[in-house]
Amino acid sequence: MAVKDKVVMITGASSGIGEATATLLASKGAKLVLGARREDKLQKLRDAITKDGGEAVYQITDVTKVEDNQKLVELAKTEFGKVDVIFLNAGLMPNSPLSELKSNEWNQMVDVNLKGVLNGLEAVLPEFKEQKSGHVITTSSVAGLKAYPGGAVYGATKWAVRDLMEVLRMESAQEGTNIRTATIYPAAIKTELLETITDEETAEGTNAMYKQYQIGPDRVANVVAFAIDQPEDTNVNEFTIGPTTQP
Ligand code: NDP
Repeated sequence: MAVKDKVVMITGASSGIGEATATLLASKGAKLVLGARREDKLQKLRDAITKDGGEAVYQITDVTKVEDNQKLVELAKTEFGKVDVIFLNAGLMPNSPLSELKSNEWNQMVDVNLKGVLNGLEAVLPEFKEQKSGHVITTSSVAGLKAYPGGAVYGATKWAVRDLMEVLRMESAQEGTNIRTATIYPAAIKTELLETITDEETAEGTNAMYKQYQIGPDRVANVVAFAIDQPEDTNVNEFTIGPTTQP
């Protein structure tokens, strides 16, 4: 029921929200399986967790590749015997006006933010079905709730993630597989995310906005821990979280 001893897979674990969540959950006794593309960052995080007495393993993972997601699930099973929770968190936000036609970046966002989540589900759902339990947590965004200029494709991917989670929850209730789902909608969180914006004007505006109000990724980690910590018969569907001062 609690976080302790749960096996938690995290994608996008190499920085920001994923890193903060891994650190927090490890301190609460969870066993972490970390995935992202930057090995140096994953190694550093794994070392920091184990130095503090926690348990973590990692694997280089590109969420756009189904087989990488499958290997991460295999790693969890080999090292810890099961997967209790998958936190599908990897994402990027190269926002720009649609008229700029940055179609490579549109495709990147669809591939990572949306298909990355689908690939994670493809890898883990057979395990959850067999176990008749499991917990899927995703990082959507307030952009998945409210449209804004410059955020069309990013917002579309985050809306889509919300829908996936809701339907997964409903279907699993119908099918009796007991899979819990939680969708998190963060607002301005201080991470590396803004570095993915290449459109100069959008980057300038977004950086200026984030400078006014942003909170640390540890606050999102608290929410993930809360969702996991609930009794197995209790599903916390959604959380919106952001700075108190952000309108
Ligand atoms: P970061 O940029 O710090 O983290 C993004 C993570 O995603 C990194 O660990 C990166 O790792 C990983 N990632 C990117 N592409 C891939 C890929 N192809 N395969 C595997 N991992 C990948 O930003 P955040 O921590 O803020 O972002 C985490 C999530 O939170 C994202 O989904 C983002 O959309 C969402 N979010 C963030 C908000 C914010 O204000 N910061 C607000 C709302 C939502 P690597 O490069 O090593 O692969």
